[in-house]
Amino acid sequence: MGGLWFTEKQTENFGITMKIKKTLHTEQTDFQYLEMVETEEWGNMLLLDGMVMTSVKDEFVYHEMVAHVPLFTHPHPENVLVVGGGDGGVIREVLKHPSVKKATLVDIDGKVIEYSKKFLPEIVCGLDDDRVEVRVDDGFMHIAKSENEYDVILVDSTEPVGPAVNLFTKGFYAGIAKALKEDGIFVAQTDNPWFKADLIREVQRDVKEIFPITRLYVANIPTYPSGLWTFTIGSKKYDPLQVRDERFHEIETKYYTKELHKAAFVLPKFVKDLTE
Ligand code: SAM
Repeated sequence: MGGLWFTEKQTENFGITMKIKKTLHTEQTDFQYLEMVETEEWGNMLLLDGMVMTSVKDEFVYHEMVAHVPLFTHPHPENVLVVGGGDGGVIREVLKHPSVKKATLVDIDGKVIEYSKKFLPEIVCGLDDDRVEVRVDDGFMHIAKSENEYDVILVDSTEPVGPAVNLFTKGFYAGIAKALKEDGIFVAQTDNPWFKADLIREVQRDVKEIFPITRLYVANIPTYPSGLWTFTIGSKKYDPLQVRDERFHEIETKYYTKELHKAAFVLPKFVKDLTE
């Protein structure tokens, strides 16, 4: 293979590989190793600790699916919190919902925000909106300090290594339940079922012990290992499977549709087994 190639290793024997056109920036931040690269196939891409976080070409799948599934499930989301998400993609999608009056982003690493502004302008674009407050802080600590405040919480974190370890604990989900209003709903990205089955099973078990409604849904994300990605929802009142048709309003999307909202919860058997 000629030129410069990058591999995100998922195991000792499997990885996802792409050709790099240009390295735009590299830096060891206080929390993680940050790389911005220009790839031949996927446009500009953010890597943290050697893992793909987002790329310009396929980012819409992840960001739309994190945001719109819970935001269409909640009948009137006004106050929304994004934990992590420093590339701004989830916030951009949140702002498409006219009921949203305030969206707070809490990412632990200001450098992710800074370099996303420089190299991922089409993703980060919502952060300057008047409804958005950006805080550089630990999401775990922010949640611990919040009570009865948010309608929807979206956890767009790195994998459970380094600064995000605490964001996959039962204590964090209990904190989220406290930070949400009495009819609040949250979603967290929960990695892939091919290599992280134990993690998904554990998160489902923990969330079920705290939230009366717990669901798992999937999306296809080509630059993430195995391509099949899961999201766990915990909800106090509203069921994402019971959203009435009239609740869906027109927004501009490239992946999410009201039909897909329902279809995303139809799981392959080996994935469904992780929820039981
Ligand atoms: N979509 C990606 C994925 O699934 O791999 C993740 C996107 S990336 C923007 C995730 C962000 O989570 C990073 O910017 C990182 O700094 C942030 N993060 C990690 N641990 C955190 C913590 N404890 N509190 C707040 N943000 C955190």
